[in-house]
Amino acid sequence: MAGPLPENNLKNPDSDRYGQELYQLMVALYPICRSITGDGFRQTLRQLQAVVPLTLHEVPSGTQVFDWTVPQEWNIREAWIKNARGEKIIDFSISNLHVVNYSVPVHRKIRWAELKEHLFTLPDKPDWIPYRTSYYKATWGFCLSHHQQQQLRDEEYEICIDSTLGPGHLTYGEFKIQGTADEEVLISCHSCHPSLCNDNLSGMVVAAKLAQQLSDLPLRYSYRFVWIPGTIGAITWLALNEPGLSRIKHGLVLSCVGDSGRFNYKRSRRGNAEIDRVVEHVLRHAETDFGISDFSPYGYDERQYCSPGIDLPVGCFMRTPNGKYPQYHTSADDLSFVKPEALAGSLDRLLSIVRILEKNRVYLNLNPKCEPQLGRRGLYRLMGGTNGSELEEAILWVLNQSDGANSLLDIAERSRLGFGIVCGAAEALLQSGLLRETA
Ligand code: ZN
Repeated sequence: MAGPLPENNLKNPDSDRYGQELYQLMVALYPICRSITGDGFRQTLRQLQAVVPLTLHEVPSGTQVFDWTVPQEWNIREAWIKNARGEKIIDFSISNLHVVNYSVPVHRKIRWAELKEHLFTLPDKPDWIPYRTSYYKATWGFCLSHHQQQQLRDEEYEICIDSTLGPGHLTYGEFKIQGTADEEVLISCHSCHPSLCNDNLSGMVVAAKLAQQLSDLPLRYSYRFVWIPGTIGAITWLALNEPGLSRIKHGLVLSCVGDSGRFNYKRSRRGNAEIDRVVEHVLRHAETDFGISDFSPYGYDERQYCSPGIDLPVGCFMRTPNGKYPQYHTSADDLSFVKPEALAGSLDRLLSIVRILEKNRVYLNLNPKCEPQLGRRGLYRLMGGTNGSELEEAILWVLNQSDGANSLLDIAERSRLGFGIVCGAAEALLQSGLLRETA
């Protein structure tokens, strides 16, 4: 695979432009009220179709998916609280976080004593609105800043949540790029959060841009991208696609890739899957500071992909993980919290990861008895450029380790060289007939 996939340590020359495009995409998607079902989710996918021609799939409410049932579809038009003077003091049109996601409809006068049981605030972060959901318990509620709540008095209020909850569909988006092989790389992101930027919008837009980028390249693997509602969406997708799961050789859940924090990778349940090693290699060679953590059954949809009866090699690629930044699940996870350069940097790392997946092969040294004479073949002391000696070192490592058992990634790890230089050495050796790919 040629040019467009960057070496680990190189900044993509288009990075700045991509960062702006990714950010503008988030600006457009930010106001939409998404949930695990409903028109906000559909509208979001249709806007992503401007980047990549993904397909919308509709799964009817009531569909049995493993131990779960696809819920009723939720839609909302407006919601507000009016005080005794008829003034709207809380308004969904200002922030869609003001309504507990999946609230049942309600419209009536209400005393303060009852209303306050349905209000949610963050007393320790008094300017921020919390994000709350109630998918599987029929209730209603409002979220507001603690400062807003402190201004409310013991009087009668009028409340309205103009929502519908009824038979409909769970929607998800899917896009597949066919490579020369049917073996697949799965990229998954939950897309069900309303106006929250790092938690979910960042992963959604970076996945779309990655899909767009890969669409133009000749690829070995096939790539399948899914934009799904968290938990129930992953369960639904896995239940409906179970026969094809054996094709998935590598996978990543993308989330929280837009903040300025260091990268954090959570390994798959297997812990030493190729994807785990590839991500670690990319981060080690590109970053001065990053985090790697072992799998835990808590977090995003890797919980489903890595459940014991599924057990796919799927890790979770993040910057600052869920719950590890104060803005998480609050109105402060907004457009000021994510940065174009952070989005573009995440895309760059993902392209580097793809590059290694694509190029990681096992070769056989065809001249294994002592070193071949490299000078005669133009492979020794003839390498120009600043990387000359490093390339020679890589050539010796590839020759020594290519016994038909070690992959290029194995060799890069053992030699502590970057994958790119090891791969370059293998290409030079292939051209001179000293190496062949194993079947
Ligand atoms: Zn979340």
